[in-house]
Amino acid sequence: MPENPINTDPPSDQGGSEDSHSLVLRCSVNAPMRRLLDYLPPKGAELPFFVGCRVQVPLGNRRVVAVITAIIPRSESDIEHLKHAENLLDASPLISDTQLELLRWTANYYQHPPGEAMILGLSPRERRGEPPASFGKPGLALNLRGLGLPPGALDRAPKQAALLALLQTAPRSYEELESLGISRATARQLLNKHLAERQDIVAAPNWSGGDGLEPSTEQAEALQGICDSLGSFHCHVLEGITGSGKTEVYLQAIAKAMATGKQALVLLPEIGLTPQMLQRFQTRFQAPIAVLHSGLSDGERDRHWHMARSGHAAIVLGTRSAVFVPMTSVGLIVIDEEHDVSYNQQDGLRYSARDVAVKRAQLAQCPIVLGSATPSLESVANFRSGRYRWHPLTSRPGAATSPKKILIDIRGLQLDAGLSEQLLSAMSATLDRGEQVLLFLNRRGFAPSLICQTCGWVSGCHHCDARLTLHRSPPRLCCHHCGEQQSLPRQCPECGGNNLAAAGLGTEQTEQALQRLFSTTPIHRVDSDTMGGRSSMQTLIEQVEDAEPCILLGTQLLTKGHHFPRVTCVGVIDADAQLFNPDFRGEERLAQLLTQVGGRSGRATRSGEVIIQTRHPDHPVVRAVLESPWSVICDQLLQQRQSQGLPPYGHLAVMRCDSRSIDQGLGFLEGCLTTLVSERTFNGIRFVGPLPAAMARRAGLYRSQLLLAGSSRQELHQAAAQLVACATSKKQPAGLRWFMDIDPADTV
Ligand code: ADP
Ligand code: ZN
Ligand code: ZN
Repeated sequence: MPENPINTDPPSDQGGSEDSHSLVLRCSVNAPMRRLLDYLPPKGAELPFFVGCRVQVPLGNRRVVAVITAIIPRSESDIEHLKHAENLLDASPLISDTQLELLRWTANYYQHPPGEAMILGLSPRERRGEPPASFGKPGLALNLRGLGLPPGALDRAPKQAALLALLQTAPRSYEELESLGISRATARQLLNKHLAERQDIVAAPNWSGGDGLEPSTEQAEALQGICDSLGSFHCHVLEGITGSGKTEVYLQAIAKAMATGKQALVLLPEIGLTPQMLQRFQTRFQAPIAVLHSGLSDGERDRHWHMARSGHAAIVLGTRSAVFVPMTSVGLIVIDEEHDVSYNQQDGLRYSARDVAVKRAQLAQCPIVLGSATPSLESVANFRSGRYRWHPLTSRPGAATSPKKILIDIRGLQLDAGLSEQLLSAMSATLDRGEQVLLFLNRRGFAPSLICQTCGWVSGCHHCDARLTLHRSPPRLCCHHCGEQQSLPRQCPECGGNNLAAAGLGTEQTEQALQRLFSTTPIHRVDSDTMGGRSSMQTLIEQVEDAEPCILLGTQLLTKGHHFPRVTCVGVIDADAQLFNPDFRGEERLAQLLTQVGGRSGRATRSGEVIIQTRHPDHPVVRAVLESPWSVICDQLLQQRQSQGLPPYGHLAVMRCDSRSIDQGLGFLEGCLTTLVSERTFNGIRFVGPLPAAMARRAGLYRSQLLLAGSSRQELHQAAAQLVACATSKKQPAGLRWFMDIDPADTV
């Protein structure tokens, strides 16, 4: 089903109408308010109005951009209190009905003001009320009214009737119309009758899919399953370790969707949209690709947005927020690394791009592919219950074996900057064979804190309940939560002593040690301090791809999606740093991380080894990662979740509050909860809190939260909605902000 269905006979609350004087425009206004606002049509407006068009409306003493979400008949009472909209900004809808439906669903599901959800469907300039970006040749397109005229309309004006019939098949440029013998005057008559509008016409792109590799048996089976479901809504989980050929499956499935004239939407984690990945798409497809990520300027974003919406782009490749980009006809959605946390928007409208994408696929009636080496427990539960289809890729094309995993118990061992003797000798052996080493340490900086060995003082942030990280180049103390920076104290601020020392380990420190221990080997440190932009990662990848032996040392940045074909030894310097995460997803994240890091080893034709250093060799997650495939790890984790009634078996929502004091936040939440439970009893809902968040103070604000848990999604949603209503009706102390987080990515 196209995303832009044509309303031939619009019902009164949906489509256009001839008599604008008897109508009210129900608008979603870009402002933090939880209801829709009604306006009278702009004074003197003659044009037909359509749902999905923007209007400029007065709000207080401001003028804001709004989207018409419904057109309703006017009642007598409207006249007294309704204001007129000032300007109609679009002659035809910018947001299609299905897109509107998706945005409405998003606002509703995530309990967010509808206007703030609606603008996610607009490009930067459209949000500012400017006309949409355009490119192409000037031409003519019918509006919904023109498209809806029955055959035989305008019969008394045969030239106009002929043009109408022609445009009903597709918009045309003036150039083309001229070559068909249709005059500008005839075109003007359709414009004057408000049946058509000017539009820039982009030549029908010539899409071609390019040749794929000969698929393996497993790839062929996955492809068959996905392609058989083109044209209907199905969720597919493509589970395969890194390098098992998932991307190849995406590419071939996209080619199939394109062959049916449909577009593909591909979402990648923030970190995965590398020039490398883009290049792979560009070499495979002879087709325009719209690329959307947070690093674009507004102008670039507008242009790619238009390519997607006009149907010019065959493929839209983007990060999280691209899930809302309008497209003419989506035929396939792909979410790469579907388990990745960067799909969760963590402020403003908190949503999961993966979950929104599933809804989008349902509305567009197309298949969606969720790919990962370590699918989330939600997705695993979904394919185990039969709701989703599962396609495993168990082997790597061209590589015989999976990496060998080795655990090193570092209790009591002599370590050099965190590195054990055994790890060091494995590294040397690898380098001697002419191969590369990758070391993982998820902490940037020199050391996680600076301490006084005389009095026990610890470098703390003034604005957060957090320690300041010691950095050496340049020397300073930094807060990784709020960005606060301090110069290094010469003496202890507490006792004045000179006994200050770095405590713990960060990438800068290990880098220094490696330079000393492997003085002739190139060492590349990869963390957000060394990798400024996208291009630095690309440069590094090119440098390392066919290069001599070297050591890569880095944080999470290194563990995702990149191809380092010559790496055959992966070392996890400190697995324990992640072990005692208080969040219920902590163990899932740790297992994913360790499995993903392992996947970096022995791509291409070499087999590899993964060495994990820990002080907790018997921790169940560490053991599971070492001994079991992902499915068995999931068995364990799912069992725990089930016994605790946690997702995917139960559902969660958190109301969070930022305030000027912890008591103020806790008091506000307590007040909301008291009102809520006085109105109704909630049998199936557990309320936990209000409690201070794990980091109770961040960037100068005090953070508190109230958790709602329940086994019925519907009941939980009702309770959350009522809680939002309570909070909305409460008087809000100055400086206090609250927000609802549905299906929270974490609960700490
Ligand atoms: P993933 O996305 O799972 O990491 P890729 O699709 O990137 O895996 O594949 C890893 C490597 O294997 C790539 O270099 C790719 O070109 C190659 N490859 C994938 N499928 C095949 C195939 N059927 N035949 C030969 N090589 C393949
Ligand atoms: Zn001291
Ligand atoms: Zn801070």
